Amino acid sequence: MQNIFKNKYLDQKKLVKDHFYYLVSNFSELNQKQIDNLSINIVKNAQSYKAGSPFSKLIHEFSLTSNEGIVLMCLAEALLRIPDAKTINDLIEDKIPIGDWKKYIKNDKDLFVNISSIAFLLTGKIVEEKVEENKNILGKVVKNLSGPILRNAIKQAINILAKQFVFERDIKKAIDFSNEKKHDKYTFSFDMLGEAAVTYEDSDRYYKQYEQAIIETGKGKNPHKKSISIKLSSLHPRYERNKLDLLKKELFPKAYKLTELGRDNNVDICFDAEEADRLNLSLFIFKEIIESKLIDEKYQGFGFAVQAYQKRAFFVLDWLKKYLNEVNKKINIRLVKGAYWDTEIKIAQEQGFTDYPVFTKKFATDISYLACAHKLYENENIFSQFATHNAHSISYIKTLFKDRDFEFQKLHGMGDEIYSYLEKDDNFKCRVYAPVGGYKDLLPYLVRRLLENGANTSFIHQLKTKDFDILKLVQSPLAKIDKLDEDKIKKPIEIYGDRKNSKGLDLSEEDVVDSLKFNGKFKDIKAYSLINGEDVKSDEVIDIKSPHSSITLGKKYFVDEKISEAAIESLKEYSSKWKKFPIEKKVEIFLKFADLIEENTNDIIEICAKESGKSIKNSIAEIREAVDFCRYYSKEALNLFQTQTLKGPTGELNQYRMIGKGLSFVISPWNFPVAIFVGQTVAALITGNVVITKPAEQSSFAAYYIIKLLLKAGLPNNAIALLLGDGALIGKKVINDKKLKNVIFTGSLETAKIIQSTLQQKENIPTFVAETGGLNCMIVDTSALTEHVVKDVVNSGFDSAGQRCSACRILCVEENVYDHTKHTLIGAMKTQQVGNPEELSTDIGPVIDTEAFENINNHIKKFDKVFQIDINLNQGNFVPPTLIEIEKLSDLKNEVFGPVVHMLKYKASNLDQLIEDINDLGFGLTLGIHSRIDKTIDRIVEKAEIGNIYINRNMIGAVVGVQPFGGYEKSGTGPKAGGPEYLKRLCHEQSISNNTASMGGNASLLSEVED
Ligand SMILES: Cc1cc2nc3c(=O)[nH]c(=O)nc-3n(C[C@H](O)[C@H](O)[C@H](O)COP(=O)(O)OP(=O)(O)OC[C@H]3O[C@@H](n4cnc5c(N)ncnc54)[C@H](O)[C@@H]3O)c2cc1C
Repeated sequence: MQNIFKNKYLDQKKLVKDHFYYLVSNFSELNQKQIDNLSINIVKNAQSYKAGSPFSKLIHEFSLTSNEGIVLMCLAEALLRIPDAKTINDLIEDKIPIGDWKKYIKNDKDLFVNISSIAFLLTGKIVEEKVEENKNILGKVVKNLSGPILRNAIKQAINILAKQFVFERDIKKAIDFSNEKKHDKYTFSFDMLGEAAVTYEDSDRYYKQYEQAIIETGKGKNPHKKSISIKLSSLHPRYERNKLDLLKKELFPKAYKLTELGRDNNVDICFDAEEADRLNLSLFIFKEIIESKLIDEKYQGFGFAVQAYQKRAFFVLDWLKKYLNEVNKKINIRLVKGAYWDTEIKIAQEQGFTDYPVFTKKFATDISYLACAHKLYENENIFSQFATHNAHSISYIKTLFKDRDFEFQKLHGMGDEIYSYLEKDDNFKCRVYAPVGGYKDLLPYLVRRLLENGANTSFIHQLKTKDFDILKLVQSPLAKIDKLDEDKIKKPIEIYGDRKNSKGLDLSEEDVVDSLKFNGKFKDIKAYSLINGEDVKSDEVIDIKSPHSSITLGKKYFVDEKISEAAIESLKEYSSKWKKFPIEKKVEIFLKFADLIEENTNDIIEICAKESGKSIKNSIAEIREAVDFCRYYSKEALNLFQTQTLKGPTGELNQYRMIGKGLSFVISPWNFPVAIFVGQTVAALITGNVVITKPAEQSSFAAYYIIKLLLKAGLPNNAIALLLGDGALIGKKVINDKKLKNVIFTGSLETAKIIQSTLQQKENIPTFVAETGGLNCMIVDTSALTEHVVKDVVNSGFDSAGQRCSACRILCVEENVYDHTKHTLIGAMKTQQVGNPEELSTDIGPVIDTEAFENINNHIKKFDKVFQIDINLNQGNFVPPTLIEIEKLSDLKNEVFGPVVHMLKYKASNLDQLIEDINDLGFGLTLGIHSRIDKTIDRIVEKAEIGNIYINRNMIGAVVGVQPFGGYEKSGTGPKAGGPEYLKRLCHEQSISNNTASMGGNASLLSEVED
């Protein structure tokens, strides 16, 4: 499998060319003609196909690239699950007016399309309160209908969309239905709806459904004809590579058991393919099953799907060829192109991966599909199943496999028009993927289908486009090879244009996982202050301990007043030189620094985990943020420090420029020992200031390590001094220094106030930039998807043990969905693993020290309605994720810096009051909103006095330059870190006006004018 692991991010051009040559050398021109003819016939037959469902008419009418298509998708995604009539109406009123429905009402259209369009149109108008006379015949029929009736019609239309894809509501009915005569030509694979379990309760329910489905299917008259499709993500709430050991205990046995049940009941089992980061994991499971005694001569019905849009698809099949030969076993493989393309592109960009795991050109996916088909053809141990609705792919495969047994597969509700042409063949074999279940579980599946039907690149979508060019539609993807160079999708590293995105680590990859096994490099560490670039030893020596273990990691040397004074002195002389140091050279240093941080990623992860108790995932995010700060501020500074010549009267030169102020004091927190520390320090330095940087006592070694890297990158020794030690002692010395110009602080509100009042006593007025905490809320209405909300709350409230100033502290949920949200949230909390942050599987590490531990526990003790998960840890500062129900917002006064989320019930009619109450808390840092209704979102955004608002997503992890971060009032002074105003606050502006005519008159004016 090593080969599969290595190829996730292969270069697209090289890989497609390899596939291209492989295909060309395997196939003759003669076959090409046959393929073209067959494709054309399939398409022509599809054009005249009459039994098109109302759905397909509707969906093809409203392309996803149009407003109307997007409206339909939004409605379909939310309408069926909203519990209360008011929100349903709000949603309809919100979305429908966006569309221009009139243009879809035509007499030559299907009645259903017309009626739906009219319903959309009129509802839109009613909600806009501008009903106008509709002259269309069909319009006249319905023009007198009232708003509620039309709204109901819309609900019905969306119900029909949903029904289009559900085969039946339960497995018994599905089996009966599949046995009806009209389905004689097809076999079936039942898919029990429901994916991505969020809780153990979900996964147990889904497991039981699969069990029942296999048993019922096995009872059928002709069980071999039927199979069951299973999603591994529905069988476990944490189907992730970093949970491998847990999954071995909890998921592997379930997958094994279901396969065993398939064997016992003579039912084929096919495991669906999901996101790319799950590929390795699923292969581990499949390999175990294949090697087990379940797969033998008697049972060859085990199989799984392979996605051709993944660059590794070909290598998976290549491996299977050798492997199945070795073990001498037979399985099924369903070849699909893949249904998560948009998600894969987004994940890779967000995570800063080296490239995409999927192709970025549609024809590359098509070529890969054909190359994979050849690989399957070569493999006698695989029964090939081709799941596609693309006429060219179908024709190619039919021609290639003319002498081999295989089957096609289609989705229920799609591709009928395509396969109807082939039904007449004697050896026609096609299996229908038939979703079974209720609408509640249908939604994620429905959205994927709608995307697939509506996407511009989709074959099915193009087939329905008016006046399409048939030859172009069925053209071989091989003919498009010369378009390989044109790629609109930038590599993840390039998405910010002239600023490189920071590199992420793909924790689903085996070599990355191996590299993260710490080898004890950081034993007996020593953290010193740095003055003139030299380590400074001192008398106050303190043990460095992990917050999660009793092992002593090393020693830190804390400074006294004398050393602090020496540090200040060491910078003063250099201050004017550093101001004048050319900005281009400064930028060179900080870009080099960013590269050095990236090069030392593994060291820094280990330091963050050991010294600060940060999980590996959080440590990576920390490093990326630090790198982004360096690159973002470099780019900003380069612009900011260009002298500008301003327009003015002739005879004078007016210039405007920025210059450093002088001595700056950076005070950083322990919760982001690298990111914030680097961000603040680089901002102060790059604006031409010499800097005393003082990290939190708890993260002294990280700071020492980082400043060593900065000096290595070329920062002059006298531009910075690192002082480790007691904040009050160092603070007193530095803040009272006459030369102090800037104080840049991130930490508690209490300390910020102390600094502020000390600064007020000074003669000059140093700049004070403070970032403090927040009592951050998330507002959830009934249109929100509970599973999505819960994932975001777990992430926003408990990740980093809640030790982020942006963390979600109060979850405000509308009363109609409160109990369900609470129940699901508690279920999701039970899936969180609290423990040693040095292990990849750990979700939540310790809180920073015993003081924090006690404060948080004292807070929790004040409440009655408390839920905590069980953790069995007998050492370390671990606080279990905690949910506390509160009656009113004012039950909370201060930020509780730990893994504690408070939950509050509100009534929709009191939303405005809720926003006011949130404002009255006096903090203004982050706010989360979960709603599908734009008007609700806009209302909250308009009223909330909050610095960072996150809609339908988690509310942590602000990205530098993308979500500039910082709040108002008790949350900080601004400007926002990682935003365009930050650097400006740290330097002086200077305006230089020179009367150039004073010496020798205005010669230039005289020479410019003409007669
Ligand atoms: C029976 C059955 C079972 C299925 N099971 C699974 C499964 O287990 N897992 C799964 O993921 N999907 C599954 N699918 C869905 C399947 O992936 C889609 O139906 C399929 O992608 C559509 O392919 P096509 O050949 O019909 O359409 P086409 O329109 O020819 O191709 C669509 C494919 O091209 C890709 N594409 C679009 N734009 C680009 C681009 N710019 N660059 C690269 N690629 C692009 C799309 O993502 C999609 O994969 C299944 C489908 C069927 C019929």
